[in-house]
Amino acid sequence: MKGFEYLQEELDQMKEEGTFRELIPLESPQGSKVSIKGKEVIQLSSNNYLGLTSHPRLKDAAVKAVEEYGVGTGSVRTIAGTLAMHEAFEEKLAAFKHTEAALVFQSGFTTNQGVLSSMLTDKDVVISDELNHASIIDGIRLTKCAKKIYKHVDMKSLQEKLEESKEYRTKLIVTDGVFSMDGNIAPLPEIVELAEQYGALIMVDDAHASGVLGENGRGTVNHFGLDGRVHIQVGTLSKAIGVLGGYVATTKTLKEYLIHKGRPFLFSTSHPPAVTAACDAAIDVLLEEPELMQKLWDNRAFFKEGLENLGFDTGISETPITPVLIGDDAVTHQFSDELFKEGVFAQGIVFPTVPKGKGRIRTIVTAEHSKEELQEALQAFERAGNTLNLL
Ligand code: PMP
Repeated sequence: MKGFEYLQEELDQMKEEGTFRELIPLESPQGSKVSIKGKEVIQLSSNNYLGLTSHPRLKDAAVKAVEEYGVGTGSVRTIAGTLAMHEAFEEKLAAFKHTEAALVFQSGFTTNQGVLSSMLTDKDVVISDELNHASIIDGIRLTKCAKKIYKHVDMKSLQEKLEESKEYRTKLIVTDGVFSMDGNIAPLPEIVELAEQYGALIMVDDAHASGVLGENGRGTVNHFGLDGRVHIQVGTLSKAIGVLGGYVATTKTLKEYLIHKGRPFLFSTSHPPAVTAACDAAIDVLLEEPELMQKLWDNRAFFKEGLENLGFDTGISETPITPVLIGDDAVTHQFSDELFKEGVFAQGIVFPTVPKGKGRIRTIVTAEHSKEELQEALQAFERAGNTLNLL
């Protein structure tokens, strides 16, 4: 069909530059080992931090919900698609997060978009870390407010932006809790101090911290003992929680406002019963099986140390996201291919997801990996590193 030639040209150029990506289908459930192209490989690229995608309690809850309530809701939340279980889950989530209220969106992406695009007007300013996630950037793009970007985790730069922003009604500082490409944690105590000094609000995106940081996985705010001092906590239900969705844990006022003005919430059909029931069971697992988080962190320590002992540079990671910094984009892809041959699935991340020349293999260990699997993976890294003369 004619009409898409200009798109094809761009795709061809991406192929020439080596940035074109094929989707890689898994032929097995998500897990510490997965089947890809008929081969069993160690999975080091998922966000399934606690292994909850296949946890029996979540699966049972989902199956039961399908049997009792069917597979869909047939409406958006604000018309006829709010189930009692949606509200019960939000109450459970708010109690878990120690906030007044919580509201679930269809994904973490639409949560950021919905919150930012609805609550800020031309009277307001948003002050955002330069390495915040794409969904924050897109949410900000949808607003008419003033936009300021501060240097990554640089508190001097944040203070300068706050200093320039005194005339605005609402000053909203936005930061990822854990940055997804380097695995470092935002300096939240300093951000809170500055926010309090300048009368600013704070929004934290805890996509990679929910289920990973804080007591029972309550997130970055709880990790730093800052409960009650951060106004908006966004999180995803799609990573450590193992299912799908996003949430905002915040005040009753913002929740009610988002129900009326948050466009992705208003105009998109609500989560199927199986999704909500599985997410609800995931919170019980976080509370009742803290050994999963312990195993995740033990695995992270073992694997990071192993990579560093081999001579790899893991950057500034402080969480189970452990990047192996390579640099050149093409070499990064070659390394990922070599790892696959050696039995490890660890995707290369290159421009435009990270700046040019900052290519890396981003690894994420989970609570499901055994020490033997991680040892095997380290041996694969050593062999692949030697093959490409990286060690
Ligand atoms: N924020 C951050 C920091 C993320 O890494 C992601 C997932 N890539 C999201 C938001 C979006 O979450 P979801 O996958 O639930 O849409």
